[in-house]
Amino acid sequence: MNRGILLTISGPAGSGKGTVIAELMKMSDDFRYSVSATTRNPRPGEVDGVNYYFVTKEKFLSLIENEEMLEHTEYVGNYYGTPKAPVEKTLDEGKNLILEIETEGALNVKKMAPDSVAIMLLPPDGEVLRSRLVGRGTETPEVIEKRMEKAKKELNLLDHYDYVIINETGKIDVAAKKILEIVNSEKLRTSRNMDIKNNYFK
Ligand code: 5GP
Repeated sequence: MNRGILLTISGPAGSGKGTVIAELMKMSDDFRYSVSATTRNPRPGEVDGVNYYFVTKEKFLSLIENEEMLEHTEYVGNYYGTPKAPVEKTLDEGKNLILEIETEGALNVKKMAPDSVAIMLLPPDGEVLRSRLVGRGTETPEVIEKRMEKAKKELNLLDHYDYVIINETGKIDVAAKKILEIVNSEKLRTSRNMDIKNNYFK
């Protein structure tokens, strides 16, 4: 069985990552979602163990200490990290694993796993980004400003990414299909298919 692909999907708050990923997972059963641990409070509707593992700072620090995190970062005052254990297992089962993580984490994963695929998802422009953040209504104006500042820094790292997708308003399915196309092409990379060469004349 072919090994799954490790995908990092980044994008500023308000880029629609969560919605696009949910749509992608409806389209195909070949994807699994890596549930991160975080010290931030759950937003309304978020479920522990589904959207995140919501943990205390003490618990988070002990996970790092015990080397149970693949990567972690601090983002606008909270910790976020990817649990290590499910990653290899999921890829060995032939499923593609989605890490919905910010730029620093994505670039660290790219260093650790150069065959991972880094995708940046962006709203059409900065004004749309701001209005999506305000419209969500879950953050204070101060946090929105911090997230806008962070978005500018994240955009500066675009050239480190393998692919960029503009998430046009109301076209979630189009963005999700683009991820599917990227993965389908990546599966055909010669470097992922060396077994063909090795087993061809038998
Ligand atoms: P939010 O608070 O909006 O859910 O997430 C804030 C940022 O943290 C987003 O860019 C999200 O992708 C990122 N993030 C979520 N989980 C992780 C993680 O495990 N590692 C890293 N590096 N970033 C994460």
